[in-house]
Amino acid sequence: MGSDFNEWVKIALSDETFPQSSALAILSDPDIDLLRLVAAAGEVRMTYFGRQVMLHRINDIQNGLCPEDCGYCAQSKISDAPIKKYPLKSEEDIIQEAYEAKAKGVYRYCMVSSGRGPTAERTEHLAHIIRRIKTEVGIQTCLSAGLMDHEQATVLKEAGLDRLNHNLNTSESHTPDIVTTHTFQDRINTLKAARSAGLDLCSGMIAGMGETDQDIVDVAYQLHQYQVPSIPINFLIPIPGNPIYDCNQLSPQRCLRILCLFRFVNPTAELRIGGGREGHLRGLQALALYPANSLFVEGYLATRGHSVDQVYQLIRDAGFEVAGDRPLSSELRDASQFQLDDNPNILNPQTTTPLL
Ligand code: SF4
Repeated sequence: MGSDFNEWVKIALSDETFPQSSALAILSDPDIDLLRLVAAAGEVRMTYFGRQVMLHRINDIQNGLCPEDCGYCAQSKISDAPIKKYPLKSEEDIIQEAYEAKAKGVYRYCMVSSGRGPTAERTEHLAHIIRRIKTEVGIQTCLSAGLMDHEQATVLKEAGLDRLNHNLNTSESHTPDIVTTHTFQDRINTLKAARSAGLDLCSGMIAGMGETDQDIVDVAYQLHQYQVPSIPINFLIPIPGNPIYDCNQLSPQRCLRILCLFRFVNPTAELRIGGGREGHLRGLQALALYPANSLFVEGYLATRGHSVDQVYQLIRDAGFEVAGDRPLSSELRDASQFQLDDNPNILNPQTTTPLL
């Protein structure tokens, strides 16, 4: 199957819908040259977002103890992953961590609570915390708290919540393979409730859960249909104890192709490289900034990730800029940048012979 990158860019920069056959080819046709694909996706990204990268930080405000059976999730009742479980953090802790995120140059503070969905009482409590964060801290907010209806979404919107996250995670046909306690339609209904309440939507997927190429394409077009403006693409982090552990589907190159596919199908969306960036993209992380324009710092749910400084370094080394940038900190320049983990001297040699 051929590829006309100029034509793909032209379509992505117009009002036309990207052809499904081309979207599928991006994943399945090995003759599509990866570097040329990345460059073409980068052209679309540069048009809508320039070189800016938005940083998000997750605060896992409640961990574990979830009655749902999502097979990929360490917080599920059916997971044996040895995570630290705790109920909702205190109001003061959540607000203090919002201050800390802002001080680190984070653009958006993402509060994530485990569970099927909040009760009316929990919704009011979260709304109270969000109201305080918006007035006292002044940072963009996102909440991920499970399934909810229009009334709950309205309470949160009126409190000042900017965005509600609820991932589709996978296609409608693959959903029963990864969760049985709620349906794909339940998830769509939550997105509709958020939209009708006036909240920005954030919704994406987890790749690497045994899905087909068509499943990935289906998610990309479903998000296009709802014009979702913020799309996180997570790559399954293999956590021992989770029923869906490691489907051995992902390589750095496949992850790049997935990100490029989402950029072409959803050209104006804030496309975020989510969980698993470090482990799955590995040495190709910098290239992923061409299709994607958004990253998480300091880890995900139940797993750690690169620090703020490491992410700043990645972005700057690749020639991109942090949205709402902060000054370069001194630790970015220290000698440890020139050492390897297993041999601290190898890039910092002690020589006895004068160098010529
Ligand atoms: S993904 Fe959410 S709903 Fe599913 S088990 Fe994890 S915390 Fe519960």
